[in-house]
Amino acid sequence: MEDNGLLFTRHWQQDDSPREDDAMLCVPRGDNLGYQLFHKYHDIELGGHFGANRTYKLLAERFFWPRILPSIKSYIKSCDTCQCTKPGRTTPRPLMMLPVPQDCWSRIGIDFITKLLTTGSGNDCITTIIDHLTKRVHWFPMKESMSVQEFTWLFVKHYVRLHGLPSVIVSDRDTRFMSDFWQEV
Ligand SMILES: [Zn+2]
Repeated sequence: MEDNGLLFTRHWQQDDSPREDDAMLCVPRGDNLGYQLFHKYHDIELGGHFGANRTYKLLAERFFWPRILPSIKSYIKSCDTCQCTKPGRTTPRPLMMLPVPQDCWSRIGIDFITKLLTTGSGNDCITTIIDHLTKRVHWFPMKESMSVQEFTWLFVKHYVRLHGLPSVIVSDRDTRFMSDFWQEV
């Protein structure tokens, strides 16, 4: 458990020692977090509407929850885009393919997993920051109602301190929020 209230676990190796790479975020039950992760990893963020196994691989590197694969399969069954595409024929691509960035943490995606159960400290939202080159991720909890200033402060504390400022940020937040955010940073 980290001091920010998020629970993490690690990949375990053959000799029962934890692997020294990114920890996996434990996804709480009874939240719609799982659904939002499927949406991000299957439909948008790393997009392309991959099949269950590939979506599973992407998610299982970073998140942990029981019986993840059956849940992914049923999510994909209900995905409209996948249902409209005959399997094996064509793979729908993300709408916009950006060129591969040159440096780690130079182009990042910031997304918000919202409408979560409110924690004791009042947080109801998780910010995910993904590096588009290495696909490494950072998370921090926040409140959905936070102002741009409050969010910027958290971003500096959890991200800029470690990696400095990125050149490009891709986000699903509205452009107003993002331009205020750039001003603050
Ligand atoms: Zn799909």
